[in-house]
Amino acid sequence: MHPSTKAIRTQINRTDEMEHATPMFLTSSFCFDNAEDMRAAFADESDDNIYSRFSNPNVNEFTDKMVALEGAEGGFATASGMSAVFGAFMALLKKGDHLLSCSSIFGSTHTVIKKYLPNFGIEYSYVAADKPGDWEAAIRPNTKMIYVETPTNPGLEVIDLEMLGALAKKHNIILNVDNCFATPFGQRPIEYGADLVVHSATKWIDGQGRVLGGVIVGKKELIHEIYLFCRSTGPALSPFNAWVLSKSLETLDVRMERHAKNALAIATTLEGHEKLSFVRYPFLNSHPQHEIAIKQMKNGGGIVCFELKGGLDSGRNFLNNLKMLSLTANLGDTRSIASHPASTTHAKLTEEERRSVNITPGLIRISVGLEHVDDILADILQALDKS
Ligand SMILES: *Cc1c(COP(=O)(O)O)cnc(C)c1O
Repeated sequence: MHPSTKAIRTQINRTDEMEHATPMFLTSSFCFDNAEDMRAAFADESDDNIYSRFSNPNVNEFTDKMVALEGAEGGFATASGMSAVFGAFMALLKKGDHLLSCSSIFGSTHTVIKKYLPNFGIEYSYVAADKPGDWEAAIRPNTKMIYVETPTNPGLEVIDLEMLGALAKKHNIILNVDNCFATPFGQRPIEYGADLVVHSATKWIDGQGRVLGGVIVGKKELIHEIYLFCRSTGPALSPFNAWVLSKSLETLDVRMERHAKNALAIATTLEGHEKLSFVRYPFLNSHPQHEIAIKQMKNGGGIVCFELKGGLDSGRNFLNNLKMLSLTANLGDTRSIASHPASTTHAKLTEEERRSVNITPGLIRISVGLEHVDDILADILQALDKS
């Protein structure tokens, strides 16, 4: 079956009601007919659900779809993208291990790595996204995991997954990739040697800004460790959110096709605009890692970035003059969203720290929605005129 078919046709068994769509299983726990069945479930001798912190039919359906879409062996779904990121770190890293990551990384992930991992005796270091030659030299004897996201948030840098997959294999290191921006319909990191893939399902997977969720998929033995950690520590995805997310996966392929088509049209139109010093989108020829992007991605995704020549003040003016686009912290929604990282998500960093992760004063990130592309463009262009 093709991935788009799997996203639609992967379904838990029907109940006696013979429903067509999956019902919601809003239950904390599951019953057993007798003591022997219960013993077998607790001894891992059966697949029976026990308690919704461990597993639940709705959560299983969502997880099974994600496993199929990413080409993985197993998975575990979590309450948010960050609990997926943290769960994978804590289940697999221990005191004395080293985590190698990239300086361009989602803000909360950076906080987890920098502020909390050292509390557990876990070392870390970063390689810059635009220095692909630095990865091998940065590997230490105790490097246990390489963790990257590509394209990066918000700078849209692209990291070569084939190169990292080969490096991780050669040095026997776990390669863990945050595939949130591309989605499994845009990029499949496991085909390039990733051992684990994490997602914030809150973004494109939900796609309508309704629920939080996350998921980790990958190699069976690694997922088993993550499962044991998560089932004891409790970041389980709620059955209701899993039901929403599983339904969302049925339309992810067609939604991403249109998001990417709109984004490419917007990036192409804006490139060369007199108020902008650059426009960045992975599928523009001018993107610094365009060759890598077209090698590993099926489309350029739904995020476009550009830099206003007027810097910080122009960035704020641009947001203030938008009429339709939403000013909100989310991305990956049917509704187009604009954000200005230098005055919001990354305002606490110094100017120099922001520059080191390519967040320039006038950088604007657009999450391109599913409105008509002409309406999105018209709003951006009139706001640019006034900024
Ligand atoms: C949003 C995001 C996360 C965190 O996901 P939540 O669902 O908000 O916890 C992780 N990685 C990337 C790239 C994101 O954009």
